[in-house]
Amino acid sequence: MIPAGFDYLRAESLEHAAALKAEQGEDAKFLAGGHSLIPLMKFRLAAPTALIDLSRLTELRTLEQADGTLRLGAGLRLRDLEFSPLIREQLPLLAGAVASVGDRQVRARGTIGGGVVHGDPASDVPAVLLALDATMVLRGPGGEREVPASEFFVDFWETDCGTEEILVEIRVPALPGRGWGFQKFRQRSQDWATVGVAVQERADGSRAVALVNMGPVPLRARAVEEALAAGEGPDAAAARAAEGTTPPSDLRADAAYRSHLAQVLTAKALSEAGAGR
Ligand SMILES: Cc1cc2nc3c(=O)[nH]c(=O)nc-3n(C[C@H](O)[C@H](O)[C@H](O)COP(=O)(O)OP(=O)(O)OC[C@H]3O[C@@H](n4cnc5c(N)ncnc54)[C@H](O)[C@@H]3O)c2cc1C
Repeated sequence: MIPAGFDYLRAESLEHAAALKAEQGEDAKFLAGGHSLIPLMKFRLAAPTALIDLSRLTELRTLEQADGTLRLGAGLRLRDLEFSPLIREQLPLLAGAVASVGDRQVRARGTIGGGVVHGDPASDVPAVLLALDATMVLRGPGGEREVPASEFFVDFWETDCGTEEILVEIRVPALPGRGWGFQKFRQRSQDWATVGVAVQERADGSRAVALVNMGPVPLRARAVEEALAAGEGPDAAAARAAEGTTPPSDLRADAAYRSHLAQVLTAKALSEAGAGR
């Protein structure tokens, strides 16, 4: 449980962070809240030669709304989102889901950007951002680029954030007053989801449904979305939640049980989101 040796470097600005990364090379990693990276280092699943600390960068902790879009700085902590009146009003699904992450200590240090770049399919925020049609804004040596959430999560713990890139912002269309639901099943109150489901009613009345821990990446439950669009009721649609998924089997649940949970939780989340009313 003791990490390999590493250098600690504190970035004073985004430019400084980029310069430190260029200087330290591929084996250096950015550090935000450290709640995913440090455990990996303790288990020796990661052994960066240097950590470049982004946590003091106020540039990464901005929260703005413009032209119907929320612009979330990647360094915003989960607690900032949980208690933000703007997020609660404009993106209640996000506020509701982050309130269920880990415990208070995790939410006080863990950042939205760290959770996104880490790309754990058992994490709640990536699936929620998928349901919200979010866009990731990455800054690297070649400038800035935007990647939709649907393309960002590549494989287990692998995302489309290059080693030289910093996730600076996440853009999310505001959805005030629209139905939403978030359900997750876990054995203990602070556990990651065995399975989770996020439902978001869009501005045109259609519903996006995304699944936590039902494959190597967060997944859209396309069969459920199609069934709803075709006029099927929420229970019939929810019965299709496991279609096209590849849930893992582990000590907490096997794949068949996860498939069952996906159906039950999708029915509950759809009901919570007001589907069928
Ligand atoms: C006890 C415990 C319980 C938890 N329970 C849950 C849960 O129920 N649900 C859930 O979703 N999550 C849970 N988490 C995970 C937690 O939410 C994540 O650890 C956190 O969101 C990751 O953010 P961080 O700021 O700690 O990232 P870090 O650990 O600092 O970084 C994670 C990765 O992202 C990279 N990175 C960070 N910021 C940037 C950036 N701006 N640009 C480029 N790369 C970056 C780092 O280099 C690293 O590879 C739990 C964690 C713990 C310790």
